[in-house]
Amino acid sequence: MDAMDLGPSATPRALATEAVHAGREDLAGLGLHAPPIDLSTTYPSYDARAEAARIDEFATTGARLDGPPVYARLDNPTVARFEEALARLEGTEAAVAFASGMAALTAVLLARASQGLRHVVAVRPLYGCSDHLLDAGLLGTEVTWTDPAGVAEAIRPDTGLVMVESPANPTLAEADIRALAHSCGSVPLLVDNTFATPVLQRPAEQGARIVLHSATKYLGGHGDVMGGVVACDEEFARTLRQVRFATGGVLHPLAGYLLLRGLATLPVRVRAASTTAAELVRRLATDPRIARVHYPRIGGAMIAFEVYGEPHDVIAGVRLITPAVSLGSVDTLIQHPASISHRIVAEGDRRSAGVSDRLLRMSVGLEDVEDLWRDLTRALSAPPAGTPRAAGSGRPGGVPRPAGR
Ligand SMILES: *Cc1c(COP(=O)(O)O)cnc(C)c1O
Repeated sequence: MDAMDLGPSATPRALATEAVHAGREDLAGLGLHAPPIDLSTTYPSYDARAEAARIDEFATTGARLDGPPVYARLDNPTVARFEEALARLEGTEAAVAFASGMAALTAVLLARASQGLRHVVAVRPLYGCSDHLLDAGLLGTEVTWTDPAGVAEAIRPDTGLVMVESPANPTLAEADIRALAHSCGSVPLLVDNTFATPVLQRPAEQGARIVLHSATKYLGGHGDVMGGVVACDEEFARTLRQVRFATGGVLHPLAGYLLLRGLATLPVRVRAASTTAAELVRRLATDPRIARVHYPRIGGAMIAFEVYGEPHDVIAGVRLITPAVSLGSVDTLIQHPASISHRIVAEGDRRSAGVSDRLLRMSVGLEDVEDLWRDLTRALSAPPAGTPRAAGSGRPGGVPRPAGR
């Protein structure tokens, strides 16, 4: 650390400033402006005894090594910049990055199971694949599903984790994180913060010990990089690094570079898209074609709504908005959770978690609000799928779609 270093011990800086500078403080000293990308899979050392001692240290403690990483499955300097920046934004001691959000959740579950704590208490709804991973017991974990009020009672001596999403995918249901953390007692609370991002909510400040992100979504922000990250205290981060080393779900350095770059614009993107989302919510709320609108109190760029009509017709009717799974990109995406993102959850579990068959989930991007509204309102009035459409039938600018799409 040199005199120019403005680490966490310096005067706290605003989130927008951290987003641009965290993980980059050493660059000027290196004579660089953009962060370097280190693609090495291995690192030379002429001193095998010293290398052995470093490997021992990592194996026993999981602490990050000073100096080069030995091998890319232990650590990577480019990925470490992203980890450092994300930890700063979430207000945690550390962060550990993985190849995807699901790889990150897998590492958390394995880390707890390795300590003999195989039982998980979870609140629905969760992202469809997170629900599936827990419910199918693929990792040898056992799950008890409950609502936030039932968490304290569901905890057993072998409970290793309480898991919640807030706002939840896809209903945007919110949990009182502080109250939930209190109900957890000494059991760590994991909050999946993918939807809110640290711009809108920092769960660690409210008592969550583990904050998970699908970095594929808002952190990357452009729909072109897959990753996951866990923000937590250094003690748990050490276990996660050991699990990552042993199981191999590492984030590629190019992805680490793109995610660090994504963080720089995260506050601007989230705020701009949230303003547009709030306006669309305002219009949908009074629209006679809409049965119900879901939008969290903390705001954000994710919206969900239930239609009186056929949701598949809305999906088939959009032209500017992209009908696709995933979220958090610069462009607006819409999808039907019961068919796509939550397909893997059993129908009964889906419905009891509030995921209606008429629910559509939309990730609002950075387009102009009037253009989005024009596309959405037109799609909401779309004739039923299969109705023949004459050319130029009142869909100006519409792109003809191949039949059967
Ligand atoms: C997408 C998503 C995940 C899974 O992340 P991947 O990067 O796709 O593996 C987990 N949680 C939430 C809330 C998500 O939206």
